[in-house]
Amino acid sequence: MTKSYDVAIIGAGSSGLSALRVVRKQTDNFVLINHGSYGTTCARVGCMPSKALIEAANAFHLRKMLDAFCVSGAENLAVDIPAVLRRVRRLRDGFVAGMLNLTDEVKDHSIAGRARFLEPQLLQVGDRRVHAKKIIIATGSRPVVPGEWAVLGPRMLTSDDLFEQETLPSRMAVVGMGGLGSEIAQALARLGIEITGFDTSDHIAGLSDSQVNSVAVELLSAEFAMHLGQAAEPVIEGERIRVRAGNESVVVDKVLVALGRLPNIDQMGLENLGVALDDRGVPPFDSSTMQIADLPVYIAGDANRHLPLLHEALDEGYIAGYNAMRSEPACFERRVPLAIVFTDPGIAVVGHRYTELNKDEIVIGEVDFSNQGRARMAEMNQGLLRVYADKNSGLLLGAEMCAPQGEHLAHLLALTVQRKLTVRELLGMPFYHPVLEEGLRTALRDAASKLVGKDLADLAYCERMGADAID
Ligand SMILES: Cc1cc2nc3c(=O)[nH]c(=O)nc-3n(C[C@H](O)[C@H](O)[C@H](O)COP(=O)(O)OP(=O)(O)OC[C@H]3O[C@@H](n4cnc5c(N)ncnc54)[C@H](O)[C@@H]3O)c2cc1C
Repeated sequence: MTKSYDVAIIGAGSSGLSALRVVRKQTDNFVLINHGSYGTTCARVGCMPSKALIEAANAFHLRKMLDAFCVSGAENLAVDIPAVLRRVRRLRDGFVAGMLNLTDEVKDHSIAGRARFLEPQLLQVGDRRVHAKKIIIATGSRPVVPGEWAVLGPRMLTSDDLFEQETLPSRMAVVGMGGLGSEIAQALARLGIEITGFDTSDHIAGLSDSQVNSVAVELLSAEFAMHLGQAAEPVIEGERIRVRAGNESVVVDKVLVALGRLPNIDQMGLENLGVALDDRGVPPFDSSTMQIADLPVYIAGDANRHLPLLHEALDEGYIAGYNAMRSEPACFERRVPLAIVFTDPGIAVVGHRYTELNKDEIVIGEVDFSNQGRARMAEMNQGLLRVYADKNSGLLLGAEMCAPQGEHLAHLLALTVQRKLTVRELLGMPFYHPVLEEGLRTALRDAASKLVGKDLADLAYCERMGADAID
């Protein structure tokens, strides 16, 4: 039997639920189809448990700084890893419960099962057929586990099972030093686990600016060994695993595989949509409407590979839900790109990445935090921030950083880039003293000094009084 709806949403994750919030305001005739666990990737196995682990690790790590603050006895502090993992799960369960409230509210509109397209408006879910005027694909992604790592069985972990562990072994490898791998590797190292990180690339955590990357690699390498630029491979040695990359090798008890994520679109019958899929199986879609070609089908969140981040998944779900309720899709302006990696110092990329910019058309302002006043007081004086601005107009285009409290500096810069402010306009705004943001001001002043028609005044002119701001 085929049942018909106004809208079918496939996937009860963050993006699907964001779409649901818009759709259910306008129609009762919708269905939410989900295969697998409810509660969202972000709350269950992603953003939230990973940050809970990182916070515990950072708290324990602070003991290493206590001596500098003239506090003794830190050597007597210990961490209880099983208890840390229990705390992670307790917090996680609270966040998941919040998400489950929402899916429970619509349980009469829900189908548990894997959806597959038979036609652009017709789905097969188990033995049911679902017809919908509009369909939203929000099926998320899953960890990539290449065969050579999968054979390690329970000695191989992904982010899906890391937080479920009762305890963790004393030696681990983290394969993949992208954003997720870098932040988790540092957290595990800070909890006292001997970590070795591997990546085929020389760049870590999504950084494209080699200078910022070098600083990030140097700072993280001070906490755990990292072998970059060569592919790693596992060799089983009895109960242990040897991870080899070129001439480097390490014996560990478990491996965390963090080699990226694959969208859950491969078994969805997308070939039945009647549009050509790209070489990664993704249908053509418009990122300002989320519509697939000119079909009554939308694709949002990690499923489309576009920007696999939580705030983007929410936006895309909203856009897809909004457009699913209209005859003509509305076009939405997307936010300035902002990607944060929760290492310490914090790694972030804002706006245009360094490698996207034409180096003849930009100036770069930078600050090395080793001598920054507030950072020195807090014993966090390390890191580099580089801002990129248009050489002629001074328009801020982007930034990359590995900087103390980088997540906050990154937000400030993202707001600035999105508001299309220039270096001088940002310099004309308040900077308190003594704060880390003064480090950002140093980078901005550096950029301002290189602009065409340079003008070193920080303050905006009021009928050109001609007075420079006090340094
Ligand atoms: C460890 C980790 C840490 C992260 N940290 C951050 C962070 O700090 N900040 C940040 O912005 N982002 C972070 N992310 C990314 C963020 O979690 C994702 O971008 C976001 O959760 C994607 O949401 P989604 O709705 O696209 O997918 P999901 O929440 O995964 O939802 C997809 C749903 O669809 C279901 N489904 C799949 N296939 C089918 C099918 N065929 N039929 C029906 N249902 C199906 C799935 O089971 C799932 O319930 C992190 C991710 C991980 C893994």
